[in-house]
Amino acid sequence: MNEKGNISIHTENIFPVIKKFLYSDNEIFLRELVSNAVDATQKIKRLSSLGQYQGDLGDLIVDVAFDEKAKTITISDNGIGMTADEVKKYINQIAFSGATEFVEKFKEAKDANEIIGRFGLGFYSAFMVADKVEIQTLSFQEGAEPARWVCDGSTSYEITTGSRATRGTDVILHINKDSEEFLDKSRLQEILEKYGKFLPVPIRFGTRTNSEPDGEDKDGKPQYKTIEVDNIINNTHPAWTKSPSELKDEDYLAFYRELYPYSLDEPLFWIHLNVDYPFNLTGILYFPKLKENFEIQKNKIKLYSRQVFITDEVKDIVPEFLMLLHGVIDSPDIPLNVSRSFLQADSNVKKINAHITKKVADKLAELFKSDRKGFEEKWKDISLFVKYGMLSDDKFAEKAHDFCLVKNTEGDTYTLKEFAEKVKDIQKDKEGNIVYLYTNDVAQQDSYIATAKERGYDVLVFDSPIDSHFVGYLEQKSEKTQLKRVDADVIDKLIQKEESKKLVLTEEESKKTVEVFEKAINRTDMKVHVEPLSEHELPVTVTIDEFMRRMKDMAQTGGGMNFYGSVPDNYKVTVNGNHPLIKRILSGEKAEEQEQLAKQAFDLALLSRGLLTGNELTNFVKRSVSLIG
Ligand code: ADP
Repeated sequence: MNEKGNISIHTENIFPVIKKFLYSDNEIFLRELVSNAVDATQKIKRLSSLGQYQGDLGDLIVDVAFDEKAKTITISDNGIGMTADEVKKYINQIAFSGATEFVEKFKEAKDANEIIGRFGLGFYSAFMVADKVEIQTLSFQEGAEPARWVCDGSTSYEITTGSRATRGTDVILHINKDSEEFLDKSRLQEILEKYGKFLPVPIRFGTRTNSEPDGEDKDGKPQYKTIEVDNIINNTHPAWTKSPSELKDEDYLAFYRELYPYSLDEPLFWIHLNVDYPFNLTGILYFPKLKENFEIQKNKIKLYSRQVFITDEVKDIVPEFLMLLHGVIDSPDIPLNVSRSFLQADSNVKKINAHITKKVADKLAELFKSDRKGFEEKWKDISLFVKYGMLSDDKFAEKAHDFCLVKNTEGDTYTLKEFAEKVKDIQKDKEGNIVYLYTNDVAQQDSYIATAKERGYDVLVFDSPIDSHFVGYLEQKSEKTQLKRVDADVIDKLIQKEESKKLVLTEEESKKTVEVFEKAINRTDMKVHVEPLSEHELPVTVTIDEFMRRMKDMAQTGGGMNFYGSVPDNYKVTVNGNHPLIKRILSGEKAEEQEQLAKQAFDLALLSRGLLTGNELTNFVKRSVSLIG
């Protein structure tokens, strides 16, 4: 047998295109060829189990070897092999059509990076690293003749009688000058581990030395000997391919370490995904312990297709709010050879995305129900996911409403429903609105919190970066409910129970008070108002408007309102016109005397807010001493 021919494809010179645009990713040739070898092995196993192959299966294994001198890399399997006709059909036609299709897709795409294009290249990705590719193969079929196929990357090929004596295929790559980096043991080991760590058929890459116990010496000291063992790359039965009923907690934790050997922390809990209709999806998602303000994410969710690693860029497949999860997803139904915009529109991808969201919500609901205490302990770590999820996905929000927790300054935890129930009467204002008070800094807003507590009000703690958005969300979703930060105004204004009290000052006196205070304070960012509050309230309070502050917070956490980010803080100085001190100030004989007292009252208000510092603080202390004296 000796046949030369031309491969019929319409795109000439596709290899330069492939080489050029996939250059940075050319290591995937090994993934493609090893996957083909694994597929061929799986096929013979299947044929045998169906009784269509009676021969001995032998040890099913894929071997990867390299020869630095000959500059070759060889991938060998004892799978189904191919007849010469099959080589023509599968390699010349199918493989080339995959490559042609790739180039067509590439032409359509605006941006080369847009193409995931990693699949569908299959066998021909070999030419990214090789000048010449050779196949030696023998089909499993009775009486089959060995075949040899050689191609130098042009569209012409040669088929002759081959030399392979046992069932299976060798693919021999004659590595090109630019790709000699791959003729290196550790580089190949690294690529094999990256893509093949969980392949379903053992992958052997030479041997390695192991140290084994070898009796004891005459003093009873244990002795070791080194032995050569097969260097097997993969675990052929990773946890996600097993049924959840086969796995204990230890197994999930052990698999987590297998996935992320350099991780120190253990995950909080996990979700085992297992769907076969209407799409195929398996996997395990782990909830990690989130560090404060999430540090740079090192561990990412890994995407597999039939146990072949594809990528850890899972955007679009996993809902964005779950991108901080760890673990694996395996689905043959995710299209991998199309552009990103196509991926977003793909109905399977949408369904997978929705399914993952639902599973996560169900798991959280179940954890909350079965072990509320445990759930509360984990809340700190999972609240970010939950809140982010509620903000970005209505369906998730609906479910999460039952297990989303809020905590007050006492450390008591409530569901949203429980909290609404608790405060619905006591925190209702005269308009019938329920006002939720919250703090983002328990220590700094202590005096405001204390005043609110005296009234019997609850103050919620919302102190994570996402909370400034979550506050707006809660307000929007809860009927007749307002959220106000505890220092946004004086307490009786925050929750106004009745018509305002009468002001004991005359209009004249009130004007004078503003004048005295403005002069004493002498700052443009402080606006002075006189309000008729209870005489038991503080004489002066400094607050910052809820609306302006929220806008600024949002701008800071990337809400896009940049204008507000640049607006300086504007404080409201509320002078309690009904406090006896005000009358005392006004009755002062000299203007300096009046201002000194006003300044003292104002400084006290600043002090309780943590705003009195530096020189101002020193002056305050001096003034206090002289006033006591
Ligand atoms: P794909 O694997 O996506 O079908 P490839 O270009 O990688 O595309 O391979 C084309 C075809 O060549 C395969 O479908 C298979 O039939 C055949 N093939 C490739 N490698 C082997 C192998 N090692 N053993 C047997 N058949 C193979």
